Amino acid sequence: MTEQAAAAGAVATTGAGHRVVVIGGGFGGLNAVRELADADADVTLVDRTNHHLFQPLLYQVAAGILPPGLIAPALRHIVKNQVNTHALLAEVTNIDLAKREVTTEAPDTRTLTLGYDTLVVAGGATHSYFGRDEFAEFAPGMKTIEDARYLRDRILSAFELAELTTDPAERAELLTFVVIGAGPTGVETVGQIAELAHTVLPRDYRSINTREARIILLEGAGSVLPPFDKKLQAYTHRVLERMGVEIHLNSLAVGMDDYSVTVKGPDGVETIRCRTRIWAAGVAASPLATMLAEQAGVETDRAGRIPVNPDCSVAGHPEVFAIGDMVSLNELPGVAQPALQEGHYVGKVIKARLEGRPVPPPFTYFDKGSMATIGYRAAVADAFGVKVTGVLAYLMWAFVHVAYLIGWGNRLGTLYTWARALVFTKNRGHRIITFEQAHSQVEHHPQPPADTPVIEQTTPSADGAVPSGARPPEQVPTLGREAR
Ligand SMILES: Cc1cc2nc3c(=O)[nH]c(=O)nc-3n(C[C@H](O)[C@H](O)[C@H](O)COP(=O)(O)OP(=O)(O)OC[C@H]3O[C@@H](n4cnc5c(N)ncnc54)[C@H](O)[C@@H]3O)c2cc1C
Repeated sequence: MTEQAAAAGAVATTGAGHRVVVIGGGFGGLNAVRELADADADVTLVDRTNHHLFQPLLYQVAAGILPPGLIAPALRHIVKNQVNTHALLAEVTNIDLAKREVTTEAPDTRTLTLGYDTLVVAGGATHSYFGRDEFAEFAPGMKTIEDARYLRDRILSAFELAELTTDPAERAELLTFVVIGAGPTGVETVGQIAELAHTVLPRDYRSINTREARIILLEGAGSVLPPFDKKLQAYTHRVLERMGVEIHLNSLAVGMDDYSVTVKGPDGVETIRCRTRIWAAGVAASPLATMLAEQAGVETDRAGRIPVNPDCSVAGHPEVFAIGDMVSLNELPGVAQPALQEGHYVGKVIKARLEGRPVPPPFTYFDKGSMATIGYRAAVADAFGVKVTGVLAYLMWAFVHVAYLIGWGNRLGTLYTWARALVFTKNRGHRIITFEQAHSQVEHHPQPPADTPVIEQTTPSADGAVPSGARPPEQVPTLGREAR
């Protein structure tokens, strides 16, 4: 750590001597840090968020099932008993392999420079719009807690605004949801929107029938869940259709704006009017991968991932390791298990070096299989050659996901919240949108003409009384130009 960082009082060293800096507190980085718990080293875990995010359950935040805190415990709290480790909330802006320094920017914009003897980079991945970055404005993706909360607001606001409008065409647009990409995240997301529309919301609305929502899943390949087994794909397809999801295969989003998405499919080009589009189609490695690759003199792959040596070190830099979604190694997929296992492995290598023991053999991946949920009591799992569908797969999925959450409080809290939301109340307990958020969505989508009639139920009777819970017309929040 340089004087600059120490002077800032941001981090304190344990005085162990060997400085390990770990960038990223996701599955890869956090497990490397945990493996170093008893190492004779001074470990700094730096992340631009203050939490470890369990991304596989993000869609449940977007659907209002789980509150964000259950899947995003504070990194500082996770490492509180690890005396050789300190957590730092800062964004890494530069890595200098020659000087062995990491430059970071703290939330108050001060610069902190961290010197290292060993560096572990686990920056994860970000959205990829396959060269159509302009789509990002119209079809947000889901990678962070902010993304999931934003999507929750958008999905729920669409139902609110549909309740307000009396124009059938506008109502249909508001009740059309298009998810682009039928990988696990896309499937899970449409499944949740379908459950909201068909099971959770119908009795909560007076003017609209939420069951009329059109929920569309677009996929460029010829099947849903492209990397999965055919039997599991067929099951998923069937269940989604039964849930009311329209599946468009071999279909690519080729254009979009605030009101529509244009799709090129087997039957030609079609424009679907919709107000909510969600991107679940592609990922690209963290820019930290390119930063490392340029200095190490290696080429990143098409997804921007840096190739690493069999021990996860970066070419020509045995003191630098890169792991997780941002690396290409043995054609491993960008999912949690490779990142998690690489994190443990790298921690072991660092410890062995520090203790002067022989280092472990090259990294080998233990494939524990893959799974995806579709909806309540419907999931697919492919583990150790066994293909499972339905309730059993759903229970396996739930067990595995709860087991990998950090902390017993979060595990029990998640089980309780699931039981309440899915079994006992059939409600979603975290359906929070505020007027401010709904308003900002309307600002994004200009309103219909000002003379659009207000909803009928709010018309006062002859004696001026207003039905319970409704405001007189002049006070009805139009969520449009007139409201502010
Ligand atoms: C919506 C969604 C659903 C998923 N579902 C599944 C699933 O069901 N099963 C499965 O196995 N996998 C799933 N994945 C993939 C899995 O979450 C990732 O493969 C895994 O998180 C990768 O771990 P990682 O450590 O490489 O990166 P991450 O877990 O993404 O961690 C990267 C960390 O680096 C930090 N960071 C990035 N850049 C900087 C910087 N410049 N400065 C400081 N900090 C930085 C980030 O804040 C983050 O904390 C899903 C992913 C998403 C987005």
